[in-house]
Amino acid sequence: MKIHLIGRPQFDLDAFINFLDSQGLTWERTKEAKQPEEIVEVSGRVCYMSFGPKQSPRSNTEYIRNLVNNEHESVLEHVSWTFLITGISRALTHQLVRHRIGFSYSQLSQQYHDETDAEFIEPNQLNDFPEALALWQDAVQSAKEAYKRILESLDTASAVAGEPTSKKEDKRAVRSAARSVLPNATETKIVVTANARALRHFLKLRGAILGDEEMRRLSANLLHHLKAEAPVLFFDFYTESLLDGSPIVRYDNEA
Ligand SMILES: Cc1cc2nc3c(=O)[nH]c(=O)nc-3n(C[C@H](O)[C@H](O)[C@H](O)COP(=O)(O)OP(=O)(O)OC[C@H]3O[C@@H](n4cnc5c(N)ncnc54)[C@H](O)[C@@H]3O)c2cc1C
Repeated sequence: MKIHLIGRPQFDLDAFINFLDSQGLTWERTKEAKQPEEIVEVSGRVCYMSFGPKQSPRSNTEYIRNLVNNEHESVLEHVSWTFLITGISRALTHQLVRHRIGFSYSQLSQQYHDETDAEFIEPNQLNDFPEALALWQDAVQSAKEAYKRILESLDTASAVAGEPTSKKEDKRAVRSAARSVLPNATETKIVVTANARALRHFLKLRGAILGDEEMRRLSANLLHHLKAEAPVLFFDFYTESLLDGSPIVRYDNEA
């Protein structure tokens, strides 16, 4: 699994300072705060216009912790990241795309993309079980072979018998039929954009499911990026290793 972070929030400080100037106000910034953390802080402060003499002595970290602890988390929706995730199974993305709120997706199509050279994501649970691993390998190889042979034998088929159709629709029809034999393990690529609030919800729900190693790896990998991008927004999440070395994402509701 690989996560490429391809989009991140950008705070236009000059534009914000211009706004404050127009109001005759100032803002004491926290030196270490990162851009997404500042966007969240100023969004929260605008709610109360707590700038200038009304600014509390709270640091950016304290301010954001207070927002989270008071469940004023809608302010966290102003910052989003875009991840290109590769090397994950269709089984995993099927679970991922169930997250509807604050998430956007663009996923590799099995109708437009030929899957003849598809790869398969091997579950790590099979590592110590050679017999099960061999069964798994046989199954995915025979699915791949069936996919190719179905494509070849339907090569000249029309999308809808008797109807005049385009090449594009004929191809879609053939690939739709052939892809139905591909397993859940088929490798896929997905672009995911999500805001900080939605990501926190995702990590809470999905990060610590013992029986779902691929999801735990995804959660830990995402958290690794997010901690580098905006540690304060994810202050109450941390990663640990289980006895088998796989990661688990914990949420500390006392933090
Ligand atoms: C351990 C586990 C097991 C699961 N097993 C299954 C399963 O067997 N079958 C299955 O189909 N799914 C299963 N799911 C998926 C689960 O039901 C959710 O679809 C998925 O986790 C997305 O969560 P969500 O709805 O909270 O997220 P989002 O869709 O991102 O929604 C975020 C939040 O917005 C609110 N919200 C969103 N939509 C609505 C709405 N229509 N009405 C009211 N409030 C809304 C809710 O507060 C929700 O928590 C499982 C999930 C987990 C973590």
